[in-house]
Amino acid sequence: MSMKERPSFPARLDFSVGKPKASRPVSGGVAHGAGAARQAVRQPAGAPSQGHGMDSSAVRMNMVQKLAGQGITDALVLSAMGAIERHRFVDSALVNQAYEDTSLPIGLGQTISKPGVVSRMAELLRNGASGRLGRVLEIGTGCGYQAAVLSLLADEVYSIERLRGLHDKARENLRHLRLANLHLLFGDGMAGYAKGAPYAAIIAAAGGEAVPQAWVDQLAVGGRLVAPVSAGTGSSGKQALMVIDKTAQGLRQTVLEAVHFVPLKSGVA
Ligand code: SAH
Repeated sequence: MSMKERPSFPARLDFSVGKPKASRPVSGGVAHGAGAARQAVRQPAGAPSQGHGMDSSAVRMNMVQKLAGQGITDALVLSAMGAIERHRFVDSALVNQAYEDTSLPIGLGQTISKPGVVSRMAELLRNGASGRLGRVLEIGTGCGYQAAVLSLLADEVYSIERLRGLHDKARENLRHLRLANLHLLFGDGMAGYAKGAPYAAIIAAAGGEAVPQAWVDQLAVGGRLVAPVSAGTGSSGKQALMVIDKTAQGLRQTVLEAVHFVPLKSGVA
């Protein structure tokens, strides 16, 4: 889909904080792209506020255009990035940075990934699929932003977080979207989530020194895993994006560009 085919969003930039706007129809909802995605964002028409009083659809479309310019071509991914309001997932003090291609703090020493990285990983995960993915497992819910994006790309999303504070925050951040296909779990994602397996795709938002065996075991044949992994041993901190394809003939591993993610940790807190 070319960008020209997209419906135009209100060409209005309004960052005024405080005064809630009069009710307006679904903001940036998936009014384009696959019909399946269209059903997923159920923001009630006439929702009372824009979260932070931000009329963000034009800024978000600008972000989507930049992502396309950076080489993201998957129409469903671009559509999902245009639909989910990232500014609702960050502190009010950071709202005006929400659509910049930058990671931002979300509390407890963790960060929300850059839009460029979220869309890159989502595109890798989809691997050119024509429709939605089946079941997807995300390790590291954080503030819930990427989980919301994934919920528009897959039939079911299981997202697991080891920090109770962030798990609760994600639940709160996601409430307004009422995404019935997104399941938030509190626990140690090192063990994956066997009850939802096998997964068509697994994505990690935190990087360890190796991909846990449980993730590979819980991946369906034909499925794909995308995770940041520390390159080399030790604490050099250098990470690269790793793609593992599980085929009938075995595993195929590809190491891609350098990335910078928070560490994958064991246990819950
Ligand atoms: N996708 C998130 C990114 C959050 S940062 C977002 O959109 O906000 C990565 C998250 O991974 C952190 O919240 C961190 O607590 C979590 N994490 C690290 N190790 C984990 C583990 N073993 N199980 C579950 N979550 C883990």
